[in-house]
Amino acid sequence: MSNKTALKNSHNNFEKYLIEQDSRYTNQKREIADVIFKSKTHFEVDEFLAKLHSQKRRFSRATFYRTIKQLLDAGLIQKVNMPDGKVFYEQTASREHHAHLICNFCGKISEFEETQLLNKINSYCTQQQFTPRYHSIHIYADCEKENCAGKAQAQEK
Ligand SMILES: [Zn+2]
Ligand SMILES: [Zn+2]
Repeated sequence: MSNKTALKNSHNNFEKYLIEQDSRYTNQKREIADVIFKSKTHFEVDEFLAKLHSQKRRFSRATFYRTIKQLLDAGLIQKVNMPDGKVFYEQTASREHHAHLICNFCGKISEFEETQLLNKINSYCTQQQFTPRYHSIHIYADCEKENCAGKAQAQEK
């Protein structure tokens, strides 16, 4: 799937979701969703807004958060909770949903494929007579690498 097709699909899927929710796909929402769909890494809302602001693109924080919430519900982005309480998001429309391994010391995020885990989760839900709507797999781990950026600091404390 080309990037352009993926982007178009994401907008269509979001619009479909909003219609189901009796919500409108306003221009501002569309603009916010567009920058998110085009983003390539995990982002934090305030940093992301500041970056957009520096590019002379202003969005209201409230609208941005509302859009984030709806994108989450629509399954078009996923949420990554960091050990220090920060929250990152990333778009998942153009790629597979995946699990995260997060370093407790420096916050580095690695991603791994979760197909096998997902099969287990789905069959368990089916067995319990549930239809899963959202899941998120995060492993918070102590890094054993000598060169971990945050490890020395963490040990000084
Ligand atoms: Zn680390
Ligand atoms: Zn990720």
